[in-house]
Amino acid sequence: MAQRSNFRRQPEQRTFAGECPVHGVVDRSEVEQFDGSMLTRPCKQCQFHGLRVSPQGSEEHSQALANLQAESVNSALIGSGITPRFAGSTFATYRATTPSMTLALETCQGYADNFGEHFQAGRNLLLCGNVGNGKTHLASSIVQHVIRQHRAVAVITTAAEIIRVFKRSMDRNAGYTEGDVINELASFDLLVIDEVGAQAGTHYELSVLHEVLDRRYNLIRPTVVVSNMNAKGLGQYIGERALDRLRENKALLVGFTWESERGRA
Ligand SMILES: [Zn+2]
Repeated sequence: MAQRSNFRRQPEQRTFAGECPVHGVVDRSEVEQFDGSMLTRPCKQCQFHGLRVSPQGSEEHSQALANLQAESVNSALIGSGITPRFAGSTFATYRATTPSMTLALETCQGYADNFGEHFQAGRNLLLCGNVGNGKTHLASSIVQHVIRQHRAVAVITTAAEIIRVFKRSMDRNAGYTEGDVINELASFDLLVIDEVGAQAGTHYELSVLHEVLDRRYNLIRPTVVVSNMNAKGLGQYIGERALDRLRENKALLVGFTWESERGRA
């Protein structure tokens, strides 16, 4: 049985009877796009012809390949957990107005540009500091970049959501186990955990976070941790051992220390 994902949503789809100039009345479908619009898919028979019959290098073949790639990138973006609010949040739309913001942007952009290397090293990135200064914007930019440029499986979620999904697994009708959740979270090429430290920090909440971080650490998979706490506060919250592991192997740290952007908007 195919295990449904707890973190990666599928694009909405709708099928309808449509026309193809070549094949006449056929089943067509439209699929939700990352920007919120719907896009009509190419006719299935035309797409098959382009991929399997048309010679490589022909315009028809190239177009069919491009369709396939665009669909796969779109699915990855919709499944990334980037919410509509942050869909337009890219490095290009981040407004760095102070030297420390510029440094934050450069560090995050560098991390995304060199993701192949960081992935191999399992190198983490910590975005720490006060509320409302674009950490989620930059984290979403990283996710979008590694999906588009590296074709990585990248997901952003919050610590609270991870904890909710874990808790639900205890419901006998949940249809999944705690192990399934751990396995899925460990499987992503990049996992961004936003709002770490926004919970009370109960024993259960921390043990869930530790389990996720430990599994990814053991598999040498990179994790981006986003927290409103500074590095010291984060260490007190998740424990020094967990923080040491996160910082191993030259992890990158961005401390956000400037005043909240939200107040000034
Ligand atoms: Zn057709």
